[in-house]
Amino acid sequence: MSEFALKKNPQPQSDAVREAILAAPAFGTQFTDHMAHIRFTTEQGWHGHELIPYGPLTLDPAAAVLHYAQEIFEGMKAYRHADGSVWTFRPEKNAARLNRSAGRLALPQMVEEDFIESLRVLVQADSSWVPTPKDEQDEVSLYLRPFTISAERFLGLRPTQQADYYVIASPAGAYFSGGVKPVSIWLSQNLKRAGRGGTGFAKCGGNYAASTEAMIEAGQKGCQQVMFTDAVDGTHLEELGGMNLMLVTSDGRLITPEVSETILDGVTRRSLLDLAPSLGLTPEERPVTVEEWRTGVADGTIVEAFACGTAAVITPIGALVSEDFTVDHGDEPGEITMKLRKTLLDIQYGRAEAPEGWMVRLA
Ligand SMILES: *Cc1c(COP(=O)(O)O)cnc(C)c1O
Repeated sequence: MSEFALKKNPQPQSDAVREAILAAPAFGTQFTDHMAHIRFTTEQGWHGHELIPYGPLTLDPAAAVLHYAQEIFEGMKAYRHADGSVWTFRPEKNAARLNRSAGRLALPQMVEEDFIESLRVLVQADSSWVPTPKDEQDEVSLYLRPFTISAERFLGLRPTQQADYYVIASPAGAYFSGGVKPVSIWLSQNLKRAGRGGTGFAKCGGNYAASTEAMIEAGQKGCQQVMFTDAVDGTHLEELGGMNLMLVTSDGRLITPEVSETILDGVTRRSLLDLAPSLGLTPEERPVTVEEWRTGVADGTIVEAFACGTAAVITPIGALVSEDFTVDHGDEPGEITMKLRKTLLDIQYGRAEAPEGWMVRLA
């Protein structure tokens, strides 16, 4: 593991401004005083580990990321526990996923220790930016966004020879202000996010760019999120633009489409499957069709549906809407959905004992 050189921000936000931001954090609009940075070149590998003031990047206009979207990222959170300490959740899973994404986009992979240390130096320098929850409903955290870009000045396409890895941090409030409310999701049958052999399993900006038009379509149909189906014939459920899908059956099964080249391996998804047996649920990872969801709700075998991911933890699904039909789950979050949500949040905020190694202390 390499040492990070510390270059303190000479003009950090004032205490008053920071406290005003922390009193009502939004999502992804305000950033802390510092960012972590590591540079990569093919000659030197990863080098120049540093913590520097948060601020604009200087990029050559010919930088590959701007033309060919050679970019990957991660999304994580730092949680303040009751004793003031700050922790993150299963970071080795994010490190491994960043490397899988890097492999697919021909960006450099990094060692897990450098990844975790980059989070630690940033959170330690900006620990005053980690919000303190007022109570159990106050789901505040410091959202961490590691990302790698190809910064080389070259308009030809090739595996990058020069990359930059950064971590930025943004105080985040509860995703649902005013209580957890089910969302409507639009079944995207024409616009797809991933195909076999493509980049669906990688966490890369390009996948998000390709999902945006479907978000607009969803909005026009009165939906807040998009459910993507397979690109072959659209019969199978895949995932949402940035969250995995789970269905709950009346006989206590927790069903989710198995991860594949087209479905991202979410840490929240994995963790809920890991926790399921302790809540009396049987996890099932397998292909799931649109038809199964539709008929399952009609005949009473599928009783709850939700989406899961780091940002919103668990988002109950109130309805699946398509051109031809609506699958209705009602306007109240399901009981098992909320039980899973509480179980995971209690672990993340240190209110319940975590399975061995799940919580890693940052500050
Ligand atoms: C990030 C992401 C998820 C959720 O992953 P978590 O590790 O649980 O945050 C799901 N699907 C896509 C496409 C994603 O980008």
